[in-house]
Amino acid sequence: MTDISLSVPPSTAPSPAFLTLSIAPAQVVRGAGILSQMGEAIARLGQRPLVVGGDRTLSVVQPFLEPALAQQSLQVAQASYGEDCSETSLNQLRQAVSHHQADLLIGVGGGKALDAAKLVAHQGHLPIVTIPTSAATCAAWTALSNVYSEQGSFLYDVGLAKCPDLLILDYDLIQTAPRRTLVSGIGDALAKWYEASISSGHSEQSLIVAAVQQARVLRDLLFQKSTAALQSPGSQVWRDVVDASVLMAGVIGGLGGAQCRTVAAHAVHNGLTHLLQSHHTLHGEKVAYGILVQLRLEEMIQGNLLATTARQQLLKFYEEIGLPQSLADLGLLDVTLADLQRSAEVACRPGSDLHHLPFEVTPTQLMAAMVSTTAPTTDIRSQESSFRSQPQPAPLD
Ligand SMILES: [Zn+2]
Repeated sequence: MTDISLSVPPSTAPSPAFLTLSIAPAQVVRGAGILSQMGEAIARLGQRPLVVGGDRTLSVVQPFLEPALAQQSLQVAQASYGEDCSETSLNQLRQAVSHHQADLLIGVGGGKALDAAKLVAHQGHLPIVTIPTSAATCAAWTALSNVYSEQGSFLYDVGLAKCPDLLILDYDLIQTAPRRTLVSGIGDALAKWYEASISSGHSEQSLIVAAVQQARVLRDLLFQKSTAALQSPGSQVWRDVVDASVLMAGVIGGLGGAQCRTVAAHAVHNGLTHLLQSHHTLHGEKVAYGILVQLRLEEMIQGNLLATTARQQLLKFYEEIGLPQSLADLGLLDVTLADLQRSAEVACRPGSDLHHLPFEVTPTQLMAAMVSTTAPTTDIRSQESSFRSQPQPAPLD
């Protein structure tokens, strides 16, 4: 007899008896210059907070956060999350929690520091406050942490019991981050539509339909407002795009849950993290490039004309706001064929989100898509046939 449950990857297999959703933080507070007024809201969650962040973010946040916490007579300690959200840094953070006898974690950062703080809080059954210092990801919102190796390679993600207890979005803080972080956040948020519509576009479940439709609205909003937002940091349109990248992208992940998460764009990102040369680019930059790769796969393997149109539209948009369109833009022009193959193999390994695509993909096909994200689209059929007659992708140099 076949055990059906074994044939479904665990990440996409909800329990047949019940489905648990972690849709949103218990409370979201947003505004400009609000951090110094957040002492009381934080004190409701704990008296001995451990603040977890990177060296830059801790020094940016400290002048505002410290007086607010001191006013409430909280016993505060702080810990740097190190280089990455890795097993070693998680271990050090757990020791810091125990040494300080912390009863609350406060994560401060753009992505990895928040992931590390959320995961340590989850493991210790402690409440968690997230304070994003850039709009680079929706990590301040979600009940999910990504774990990386010491070398920065993506290893696995962990679903958490709940979204944060309190999310504090201080626009003044976000404005201290480099422009590039918001561009990257836009890339990561855009992926919601291209991935959710593929993994869940045919679902009839109410909440999944809601998540997919919101992802489409999010994409349109980013198309309409991103250029103006990047031209005027601090303005209302800039805040709208920050909200879209940090909050709305989080809502979609929460509503869609495990059934409506990532597909090839993130799988390509995960594969690229295994190349040392990719570590200077941000998460959302690699994901944005991954969207183009995903569309390219749909064009080449399925002959999907809509994917061609979508890719041309994205290339134009990427050009406008400065998202990478190719391996060269990611600084990977000199990557060897062996390295490219390694990252394609990681993206194609069993259990990878790449397999949420409705067709099979081999590492060779993926490499061909990775080197042709900017290909013109005059005649898909001729490109497809030349692709099929080529056993190896074109050399990169
Ligand atoms: Zn992402």
